[in-house]
Formats: sequence, C-alpha cells, structure tokens
Amino acid sequence: MFRRLITLEEAEGIIIKNLKVAPLGIEEVDILEACGRVLAVDVVSGIDVPPFNRSTVDGYAVRSEDTFGADENNPIRLRVCGAVSVGEVPKISIGRGEAVEIMTGAPIPDGADAVVMSEHAERMDNEVYIYRAVTKYANIMKAGSDIKRGETVLTEGMVLGAREIGALAAIGLSKVKVYKVPRVAVLSTGAEVTEPGKPLESGKIYDINAYSLSVAVKECGGNPIYLGVFPDDALTIEKALKKALSDADVVITSGGVSVGPKDLIPRVLNTLGDPGVVVCGVAIKPGKPTTVAIIGDKPVFALPGHPASALLVFYLLVRPIIMGLAGRKPKEETIKAIASTRMFSDKGRKTFVMVNVKKDERGRLLADPVSTGLSGAITTLLKADGFIEIPENQQFIDVGEEVVVHLFREL
Ligand code: AMP
Ligand code: MG
Repeated sequence: MFRRLITLEEAEGIIIKNLKVAPLGIEEVDILEACGRVLAVDVVSGIDVPPFNRSTVDGYAVRSEDTFGADENNPIRLRVCGAVSVGEVPKISIGRGEAVEIMTGAPIPDGADAVVMSEHAERMDNEVYIYRAVTKYANIMKAGSDIKRGETVLTEGMVLGAREIGALAAIGLSKVKVYKVPRVAVLSTGAEVTEPGKPLESGKIYDINAYSLSVAVKECGGNPIYLGVFPDDALTIEKALKKALSDADVVITSGGVSVGPKDLIPRVLNTLGDPGVVVCGVAIKPGKPTTVAIIGDKPVFALPGHPASALLVFYLLVRPIIMGLAGRKPKEETIKAIASTRMFSDKGRKTFVMVNVKKDERGRLLADPVSTGLSGAITTLLKADGFIEIPENQQFIDVGEEVVVHLFREL
C-alpha cells in the first residue's frame, strides 16, 4: 500500500484545524490538593501580608531617635513600660525614653518605630540598657511589605507547587480555581505484549509503551487512564477504543499502525465517527506510521509500537495538545551544541537523532548520538538527553556543525 506522507508541520496544522485545543473547564480544589495543577485565574490578595507592622526579632520596641549615640561603652537607658506577645493587639503605646519588650512576630506598639534585638540590650528590672543604636524601621517588617492588598500574587497558567501554594495560604485562601485535568486513555495493542508483573511466555515481550506514555502524560499535566493490552482483533480494538473515547478526553494507542496484516487501528478508527482519521503516516524518522483521528471533539493518537518512536512522537505531536487542554503553556527546553560526528538523515523524512549532551575538553557542549540509536530500543531513550532534527531536504549534519538539542530533561 502506498501512502503519501505528510510533513510533521502539515500534521500539526491538520490536528489544530480539527480540534479545539483549550482548557476543558475550571474546578475549585483544596490548596493541599492543588500541587501540579494549573491556576485558572489571576489571584489577587484581599489582605496585606503581613497584616500589621511586626517585629522580626525578639527584643525591645523603641523610638529609634532615643537610641542615637548608643554603643557598647555608652548604653542608653530606657524605661520598660510593658510587653507585647505574638497574636495580641498592643494595648500600650510608647513615649520618649520608653521601650516595650516584644517577641518575634508581635505587632509593633504605637509610638515605636524600631526594635532593638535582645542581644544588644540588657534588662535591669524596669529598665533596659541599649548597647546599639537603631535606625527607623530597623527589625520591623511593615504591613503589606510582603504582599499588598489588591496585588496580583499569582497569574493564570502557573503550575502550582510548594511556593505558590504557600502564597495562597499567606493570603488566607483554602481553595483555588484550577483547570480540569485532561483524562487520557492509554492502551497497548499486540498479542505479544504482556503486562509487567506477569510471567513472560516465549515469543512475548513486556509492555513498555503504556507505562512510558502514561508517565509522559502525567509529566505534561494529564491524568493517564490505563486500559490494558488488546490483541490485534478488529472487534476487540473497536470495543476498547469506544470505551476509551467515552472515558477520556484524549486517547493514545501504540502498535498496530504499520502496514502489516495485523495493523488495523486506522481502519477501525475510521468507523468510529467523523471526521475520523486525519493523519495517516508522517514523513518523519522514526515515527512514520503515526496515525491521528479526531472522533467528534476527541483526538486519538495511534502511535507506532516501537517504544522510542512512540515516545518521540508523543513529544512531537501529543504533548502540545495535552498541555493545551491542561491550560499549560507549551514550553520547550532547548540548548545549542556542536555535532560530535556526522549524522545522516533518511531521504525525504525529517529525521530525529537521539543524542547525549556532554562537554568536551574545551568546555564546549557536544551532541553525541546515543550508541544503539534503534527506535525499537527503550535504552535509546534512556541514554538520550534529547534529540536533534535533520530537515527533510538535508542529507546530513556534519561534524562540528552547531545543532539545537530539544531536551527531554534539564541537564
Ligand atoms: P507494531 O507497530 O504493532 O507492528 O509494533 C512494532 C514493534 O513494537 C514490534 O516489535 C512490537 O512488538 C513492539 N511493540 C508494540 N507495542 C509495544 C509495547 N506496548 N511495548 C513494547 N513494545 C511494543
Ligand atoms: Mg503490533
């Protein structure tokens, strides 16, 4: 069977044209449940943080001008007229020549404009000797100096982590509006594919793709739903795909998309609804048999069976869609490096070469193809830091040429 292969860019264009890639909705969750979720709104603070001027040390609240001239040899004596503890409103205010004992985190009493640390003061009954002068606002965190009421603290699209959730707590929010997480059904095909944990019969292999793809889905903000392994049987696959489409927003399959007699995914996909298969083969290496269908408003990505091909095509075509549905801004880590050796392309196909990035003796970054380089080998991906592209119309990248490495992970 001859297939006219479309380019990767054409495939991307067709998918975007047939699919609305926008967040799937908004829900409110407890801040403790919000880790890794994407903020759906800008968050504006309703309060000042801290809400009042507070002491950042244990010591004595004073009028700074009363301490001017104080040093180790000439302490200045102030009258202690009370104490403020944390969590209470000061009932005292201080006047000239007075001080109030204060704890870290307690509100500054009226009249005081600085705090002398305990280490620089010596208490004698109702008096305190100040051994170091302080300037105005010394050891005071002013109301709103951290966050001002009305200030935008977090912006839509941020992925929430420890620091962001701490900020939400600081302004008193226990819940937060986040985008719904896209549900992504993941299923494997092939009579030889066996779930890990089960004994391996002869002629069989363990399922890699369902696991690597599920984790890749998670890493870009989706919720993977593992549906299992299905034999290459049209009826069984049709049933599995129908269930996947009813349970999930996106479906990912692997295997069964080449031109072998058992590769029937594209045929089944074309019976499930309109517009059906929109991409059937892409001029890339690896990943040529990649097939994409849109059924109603849901995409089905039928990826090649070879583990490295499946994951590479995930990064190229699937990841941006899942990120878009999750409300994440697609972001790609790339670095420039120098080709360590000549790397050849496959004529007429955009070729992706898995590479390691390492430093040479002169400190330059080198892109070095991983040794196996086979799309069927999981170790190809395991060893790779990222990949480089050789355009369709280029035969090779020469040793010493500058290349852009798309990173799988930060170096
Ligand atoms: P296929 O496209 O179904 O012909 O599969 C291509 C190659 O990938 C075959 O060697 C399959 O055994 C292998 N393969 C298919 N699915 C998986 C999977 N889920 N995990 C590991 N290898 C697979
Ligand atoms: Mg197969």
